[in-house]
Amino acid sequence: MERAYLDCNATTPLDPRVLDAMLPWLRDGYGNASSLHWFGQQARAAIDEARGEVAALIGATPQEIVFTGSGTEADNAALRGVSGSARAPRRKILHSTVEHHAVLNSARALAAEGVPVETLAVREDGVIDLDDLARKLDDQTALVAVMLANNETGVVQPIAEVVALAQRHGALTLSDGVQAGGKLPVDVKALGADLLTLSAHKLYGPKGVGALYVRRNTKMTAFLRGGSQERGRRAGTENVAGIVGFGRAAALAREALAGGNDTRRIAELRDRLEARLLSIDGARLNGARNPRVGNTTNVSLAGVEAESLLMALDLMGVAVSTGAACAAGAVDPSHVLRAMGLPAERVQSSIRLSLGRFTTEAEIERAAAAIAEAVARQRSMTSSARRAG
Ligand code: PLP
Repeated sequence: MERAYLDCNATTPLDPRVLDAMLPWLRDGYGNASSLHWFGQQARAAIDEARGEVAALIGATPQEIVFTGSGTEADNAALRGVSGSARAPRRKILHSTVEHHAVLNSARALAAEGVPVETLAVREDGVIDLDDLARKLDDQTALVAVMLANNETGVVQPIAEVVALAQRHGALTLSDGVQAGGKLPVDVKALGADLLTLSAHKLYGPKGVGALYVRRNTKMTAFLRGGSQERGRRAGTENVAGIVGFGRAAALAREALAGGNDTRRIAELRDRLEARLLSIDGARLNGARNPRVGNTTNVSLAGVEAESLLMALDLMGVAVSTGAACAAGAVDPSHVLRAMGLPAERVQSSIRLSLGRFTTEAEIERAAAAIAEAVARQRSMTSSARRAG
């Protein structure tokens, strides 16, 4: 069966050029980067080069990049790290309601330990409510966490404005850039965020490698303790091949962004797919059309049960996603769409499609046709069940 993979926000395929860069470090380059001999120094040099590439992708200096074991770890490290060095009365953490669970659940854990945590509302289009932020910010706020691009809707947040408000009260800003890295130009200096997170597998790199950007002189405690790797911020023998892969992926992403063709092609395909979906009766776009990353669309299809649609599409060879999280066997509807105030039926009828560098026109055509067919089939089944009932 010919398959269409439209779930690049969940993960992207490894770019073959990234694999080529990684293989020598899995095969022969087995030195421990902390060793003083030749083997160790080869690995150290490869990590340093990758650090430069990841830094360049976001306009940081190499010293400001800490490699982690995932985007999730980077988010955890940022919240825990700032909270760990915060001193009363400045301890409060503010975060948006549409953050990834890596931020939400880290904040929840800190709240359970007694850290004051408050949430920031978003508007119906998924954009942060800056008035709510202005109301909740005070001189006791240590950290404001607002993601750069949302994983479910692709909506891009006005981080520079968030930072300006936070700075007025002396608070630090964390921006989860996992879904923005490689999809739009990110310049940490222009954004002004103190902390920003990335994940390699969202930009055609390997899984299990992330990065935390920490602006120079930002005070935070170490998350993992042990050796002095990553300047003491994140102990543990480095995943050399993974980090090298991340570096290569970042370099390729920078090249693609500078050229513009890749990003434009993806956005055009997304727009074409989105137009096809929105032509289905009862279809509506979720979240702001702009600003949005160019690869993502999130659409609700009235009267359709998204989980069943996803399964039907999977059988037809089309991979999409719903924002729902599966926790302990129960399906928890998208917290993002709920936070945007969408009614429960609309949340439960929403699917996310996310494209990437390797998405083809044929995949888009196949997916659009399959979705139209599966929606029609589900609707006719529902209406005949209703008639029978
Ligand atoms: N933050 C966002 C916005 C994400 O979309 C994801 C992954 O889906 C993460 C963090 C977690 O990254 P990782 O999969 O590397 O743990």
